[in-house]
Amino acid sequence: MAFYREFAEYYAQYPYDNSAPKEAPLVDFNMDVMPHEAKRMISIINEVAKNSPLGKSILEQACAAGYKLKFQSMYNAKGAASESGKTITLSTCFPPKSLFSTLVHESRHACQFEKGYHCNFENYDLKSSIMLSRAMEADAQAVAAGACLEYAATTGSKEPLMAMNANAAPVIAKVVPFVQKGQKEANGAVLRAAFEGWYDNTSIVRAYEEQYQLNPLKRELSSGIKGMHNKSVSSATITNDLCIDANGDKYWAKKPDILEAENKIAISRDTVETADTYFTARMQKMGVLPDKSYKDLPVKEAPATEKKANSSGFRVTMSAGAFFDLKKNRGR
Ligand SMILES: [Zn+2]
Repeated sequence: MAFYREFAEYYAQYPYDNSAPKEAPLVDFNMDVMPHEAKRMISIINEVAKNSPLGKSILEQACAAGYKLKFQSMYNAKGAASESGKTITLSTCFPPKSLFSTLVHESRHACQFEKGYHCNFENYDLKSSIMLSRAMEADAQAVAAGACLEYAATTGSKEPLMAMNANAAPVIAKVVPFVQKGQKEANGAVLRAAFEGWYDNTSIVRAYEEQYQLNPLKRELSSGIKGMHNKSVSSATITNDLCIDANGDKYWAKKPDILEAENKIAISRDTVETADTYFTARMQKMGVLPDKSYKDLPVKEAPATEKKANSSGFRVTMSAGAFFDLKKNRGR
């Protein structure tokens, strides 16, 4: 019952409005929206485009790549980027100021896909898979937080920043000092700090490891070994390709090996043990030598609260080609 009441409260904030949009979108996305949704979508696009040069540049790249925008009622996730359908989806269940950072974040995933980085992490050796899956998300959060900083500097309003703080407090904590000293541009220093902040939330990092490394290995062990996990990519290649600011500069240019830092590469003990079992089984079945990429990585215990967080706080949505986000569930 609580669920329906909360839902009704969300919709009550946005009364049905079928009047024609007054503004044209400043980034000319194709939109797959109902008439009454067009106004909301255009207002989110234009809030980004008017107030954040970084956000605008990312939206323009996603638009040029042919991505279209739509709304969907997703209660637990604020947004998604689907490569196969070239679609960026925003949840109807969150207010526009909250979707400001989501549109930038999901558009950034679209840009990552366009650069040849996909969610097929099971194709990579374990170390590469860990570095890439985490970096793609940390970078998307970094630019989203950077856009919120620029919005605050331009408009004086911290609303998008605070809305993002509800889901990504460790990321925003790294950005707030820049806001307080009047930083206007989401430059390399801001993006590096926000990127670092993503790794501070060990529950999120763990949830990504379960989703993209641990559970796929377990699934193959129980349903049949496919023999992937071979491709290799370095930290420098990932950061030089993906971690780009609004001017096209590489924000980790001076530390391209950052993804090998202990707090970014550490792997959980149960993932190591599952990988050992998997690669032994793969050798027996297919004669493929075991992956040794993860053998020297720092090992950590899985967070004790991890099971609880996964059953009550996070939802991982599986969909072919989609990069769905792990967001803390509202109201819990
Ligand atoms: Zn994401």
